[in-house]
Amino acid sequence: MLKPNMFYAELKDSYLFYNIAQKTKKYLEEHPGAHLYRMGIGDVSLPLAGEVIKGLHAAADEQADKKSFNGYMPECGAPFLRKAVRDYYASKGVELSEEEVFISSGASDELGDILDLFDRSNRSLIIEPAYPAYVDANVMGGREIVHLASGRENGFLPLPDDSAKAELLYICSPNNPTGAVFTREQLKAWVDFANANGSVILFDAAYEAFIEDETLPHSIFEIEGARTCAIEICSLSKTAGFTGTRLGYTVIPRELERSGMNFNSMWVRNRTTKTNGVSFVIQKGAAAVFTPEGQRQIHENIAVYKQNARVLMKALDKLGIWYTGGKNAPYIWMECPNGMGSWEFFDLLLNKVQIVGTPGEGFGKCGEGYFRFSTFGDPDDTAKAAELLTELLG
Ligand code: PLP
Repeated sequence: MLKPNMFYAELKDSYLFYNIAQKTKKYLEEHPGAHLYRMGIGDVSLPLAGEVIKGLHAAADEQADKKSFNGYMPECGAPFLRKAVRDYYASKGVELSEEEVFISSGASDELGDILDLFDRSNRSLIIEPAYPAYVDANVMGGREIVHLASGRENGFLPLPDDSAKAELLYICSPNNPTGAVFTREQLKAWVDFANANGSVILFDAAYEAFIEDETLPHSIFEIEGARTCAIEICSLSKTAGFTGTRLGYTVIPRELERSGMNFNSMWVRNRTTKTNGVSFVIQKGAAAVFTPEGQRQIHENIAVYKQNARVLMKALDKLGIWYTGGKNAPYIWMECPNGMGSWEFFDLLLNKVQIVGTPGEGFGKCGEGYFRFSTFGDPDDTAKAAELLTELLG
């Protein structure tokens, strides 16, 4: 008899964004025409950069001509884009070979698919509060999860601890939801811990482009020793507004091996079996992101989100509210005022000032009492929301 993957029955209902949607829908039904200040969901609001659009159009034209038409793309990525990503890393002082760069349809896809490389008996350490997909992808795979809670006492940047050992270590920096960023010294501690225990770090660098403090690392491969213990997963979703266009990249160093198995070779085999690569047109659009003009344009967009962050941080500073993030990340993670619960604070903001944020509890138990603001929204709305927040809590 056919047996479904019964681990799916162990998934907890993902009620976070569903609950937010239900509560806002109810509010709008009761207050028709009300304007909501939406700072909940981490989706971008600005369109693709002009250079990317040019790249997409040119690629569509190539596909229209028999002489330049492309069929299947190489499964691990078009050479022109693997090289562009390699050069981007080189510009940050990280030397990679093009064969160590794999082009993907986005970080979510890779964060789930990469688990194929690891035996089900491996445990996964997840630093919480966390991006919810880490937990769910591991539950689906039947893996034991080791939860490592973080909090205000360590700035939501916990260090490795022998009581929380696991074979797979998820690290997201800059972090979603907290916006906190690990320093070089802190990441070095994680790399040493992974090498000493034979663990592999799955490093999620989806928000690296938001780092403005020059001392902070953009890539785990800036840290000595990472080539023998880390895989990096990245995305153009937030960097370049590709949430709906879809493109990411994954770096697996040639040196990464366990039990005589080479993870780079295994991933080549995996990709050539399970995908037929990413669309040529999208890869051409993505390559434009890595040109000097493309970089200038995407940083113009990032500057708009950073200005939103500054406006919100100024309001919180004025109110004397504790928070992380904002400076080197597109999220601000604030402590709810007066010991409020995170859903209680959500209701207060929605009902009193029509601001929609995300309750911290949705990212893990230790997120209770905290609240996330996304800075990807409309600048006028963000400025008004900051004003309303100051009036309400001042
Ligand atoms: N990783 C983190 C930490 C994220 O916050 C997100 C999206 O919000 C992703 C990965 C997914 O990125 P993508 O759009 O490339 O699938």
